[in-house]
Amino acid sequence: MSYQSIIITIGDELLIGQTIDTNSAWIAQQLNHIGINVKRRIAVADERSAIATALDESIPQASLILLTGGLGPTADDITKPLLSEYFDSPLIVNETVLQHVKQIFTKRNRPFLERNLKQAEVPENCQVLFNRLGTAPGMWFEKEGCIIISLPGVPFEMQTIMSEEALPRLKERLAGNHIIHKTMIVAGVGESFIADKIEDIETALPPHIHLAYLPTPGYVKLRLTTEGPDRNALQSQVDIHAELIRQRLGTIVAAMEDLLPEEIVARLMEEHRLSLSLAESCTGGYLANRITNLPGSSAFFKGSIISYDNEVKESLLKVPRAILETAGAVSEKTVIQMAEEARRTMHTDIALSISGILGPGGGTAEKPVGLVWMAISDGRRTVSREFHFFYDRLRNKEQAANAALDMIRLFILDDQH
Ligand code: ATP
Repeated sequence: MSYQSIIITIGDELLIGQTIDTNSAWIAQQLNHIGINVKRRIAVADERSAIATALDESIPQASLILLTGGLGPTADDITKPLLSEYFDSPLIVNETVLQHVKQIFTKRNRPFLERNLKQAEVPENCQVLFNRLGTAPGMWFEKEGCIIISLPGVPFEMQTIMSEEALPRLKERLAGNHIIHKTMIVAGVGESFIADKIEDIETALPPHIHLAYLPTPGYVKLRLTTEGPDRNALQSQVDIHAELIRQRLGTIVAAMEDLLPEEIVARLMEEHRLSLSLAESCTGGYLANRITNLPGSSAFFKGSIISYDNEVKESLLKVPRAILETAGAVSEKTVIQMAEEARRTMHTDIALSISGILGPGGGTAEKPVGLVWMAISDGRRTVSREFHFFYDRLRNKEQAANAALDMIRLFILDDQH
């Protein structure tokens, strides 16, 4: 049986764009893991009638409704009194919650006010979902065959109550369905190119397997999704179709799971026991930042020389002034010298260099905005490549970084053949 759920997030801050609704995304991921589909996400204002209307509309359509927000002690926190009224159940003090709230106030050395007593009140007919990290408990109601769970808006409190209290109970109550997602990362080409290449495979997919294209700067995520009662059978069907796509697309498939380009490179580096250094001009250290965001990157990453100015290219990376004056900073000759010297000075197996014009200014007819040169070297072999990106400065930087990471991947793969 496939269970449908609806997420209702509450708060004016969500509707004026002051807070981005990350709660819904996190909840949706967790529900998918236990086989529950999210069919709608609704954001409503801090208004009783808006919340009541969302519940009226959602209860007949769903087996599960999750609400977040509006459980605090201030006047704009109206979810709890509304739920008490909606489920026709008076607010009563829950002793366990009261002791917990008092403990929190003592620990934080704050005075316990009358309004904080309200934090320990819950509608009589709900089951309390204990909030270990905060004062607002989660609440579980049931009406007309639908489970309604209300959680605080603060993301880490909401996540802890979901993980520790709500999800284990939901797993028991709504078991039997499995949702399988398999994501592949395809690098360096657009979604139309991929769609053309795999048209026949896509057309022949069984009706219960859906294929989604998710383009990002520099790569496309292909996601196969299916659901049903038999997890193993579904998984193997999805794996078979993913493998067909991988074989068709060849080396542009960078990963058979949902990984960041830097994670793909990190895995390859570790697998082949290689070390890496960079010489970055136009990306200004962004590539190094992406790599060092990964825990454990020190195992393979030695450093980056940010040679933004020509003087630094000349002094630290020994790019001859003649090359900078004739071919220019954004040229094949410059990036080759940058990569080779970075590898020598930082003593790594591989070094990649990058130099380009990201815009909006600085372009010429010969070297337009978006032109980026990259080179990669292992001391025996140096490969260089010219790229053209067509967006604004930051998107061009993002694309350049992703293209660089893919260049590292392909360089290592080439070496294996
Ligand atoms: P508290 O008990 O702390 O008052 P609450 O249940 O009243 O929690 P809100 O007052 O609605 O929750 O929101 C608290 C904070 O949590 C907000 O400042 C907001 O930054 C964050 N928040 C609320 N809803 C969301 C959401 N859907 N996604 C991400 N963050 C959210």
